[in-house]
Amino acid sequence: MEIKAIRGFNDILPDEIGKWHFVEDTVRKVFEGFGFSELRIPILERTELFSRGIGEATDIVEKEMYTFTDKGGNSLTLRPEATASLARAYLEHQMYNFDPVAKVYFIGPMFRYERPQKGRYRQFYQIDAEVFGVSNPMVDAEVIVMLIQFLKKVGLEKLELQINSLGCRACRPAYREKLRAFFEKKSFQLCADCQRRLLSNPLRIFDCKVETCKEAIADAPQVTDSLCEECQKHFAKVKEYLGDSKLAYTLNPAMVRGLDYYTRTAFEVVSYDLGAQNAVAGGGRYDNLSQEIGNLDTPGIGFAIGMERLISLLPPGKTFVQYPRVFIAALGEETQRDAYRLLTQLHLEGIWAELDYEGKSLKSQMRRAGKLKAPYVLILGGDELKRGKAVLRDMEGKNQEEIPLADLLKTLKEKIS
Ligand code: ATP
Ligand code: MG
Repeated sequence: MEIKAIRGFNDILPDEIGKWHFVEDTVRKVFEGFGFSELRIPILERTELFSRGIGEATDIVEKEMYTFTDKGGNSLTLRPEATASLARAYLEHQMYNFDPVAKVYFIGPMFRYERPQKGRYRQFYQIDAEVFGVSNPMVDAEVIVMLIQFLKKVGLEKLELQINSLGCRACRPAYREKLRAFFEKKSFQLCADCQRRLLSNPLRIFDCKVETCKEAIADAPQVTDSLCEECQKHFAKVKEYLGDSKLAYTLNPAMVRGLDYYTRTAFEVVSYDLGAQNAVAGGGRYDNLSQEIGNLDTPGIGFAIGMERLISLLPPGKTFVQYPRVFIAALGEETQRDAYRLLTQLHLEGIWAELDYEGKSLKSQMRRAGKLKAPYVLILGGDELKRGKAVLRDMEGKNQEEIPLADLLKTLKEKIS
């Protein structure tokens, strides 16, 4: 039986990888320019980190996690997101002892057992950035500015920044009860999932994509009308700082984000090019997370960008594919050895060259060179070789010249690199 990849798990092939490298390079350049350092986290964590950190009553913990018991009887989970792990690392390594403020980022695969479809996979990559140790709303604006700057640098357009405030421990419980009372009256309209959410966490109902639920949501009480004074002030400041940075945003009081740990500022960037899966990035403040998973009360804020969705939005026209600089067409068994020597010399100089391994005809070698899009073909063989020369053909200009074998490498390097 032929073995295939698991559903929802993708290979990223060489002709796509240029885009990934471009995006990853841009992440490093932009994020490091904003003072962020990379922090690499493991793929596996104790299940508890996510059930406590993300929250029991979230879609991720309820039904999307890849959880298993290892040979030692520990319940482990493939990370479904990076924030909880990054917060754990910050606490575990007491990074706050060096400086209370830590700005970190991470790029890597996440795992969620979801129904695979376009833009939704079971293994997908996220770009993640977090700031620990700052409650000042200035930093909320700072990370949003970085996110937008990054998206611009990779060439994304038609984006909308949506922001909201989700309140805090002081004001959210009252809002939650208000919401519960509201939805109880409409419970006949709600899907089975939302009936459950009504009991466990009525805020989750806002995330539901079922049509009748969406209708019920339309005139639900808004969280921004229930904020305590501190949260109101915080949100006003965030908007003020975004204004200072000349960032346009829309207020979306129905955006609650899928994780329990969010407090106060929540934001999402949506694209109008993406169809149903239109969120490219999402994030927010999570001032209670560190207390849930550690023994320190420290604020945090961050975001995650979906790599596959981002890549599907990259502007067309920019070519990321690399081609060999030269194809060496050798004729006859004897010259194969010369071709091999030249090939390795070029490779040692960092110049990508290709040759034919099959001893095929010149015509067939030229065809392959064309398919590989090599801009030059070096022909070793025939009468020229007897005269101590090789022929360099410029595939675009369609002209060719003879090069003495004695200074082949030198001339070639000048011409093609
Ligand atoms: P959605 O509402 O689309 O399920 P989410 O709220 O679950 O998104 P987050 O947990 O905020 O997503 O993750 C941040 C980003 O990661 C999303 O905006 C999206 O671009 C990407 N993402 C999330 N889940 C998937 C998935 N299963 N496949 C591909 N990308 C994903
Ligand atoms: Mg989701």
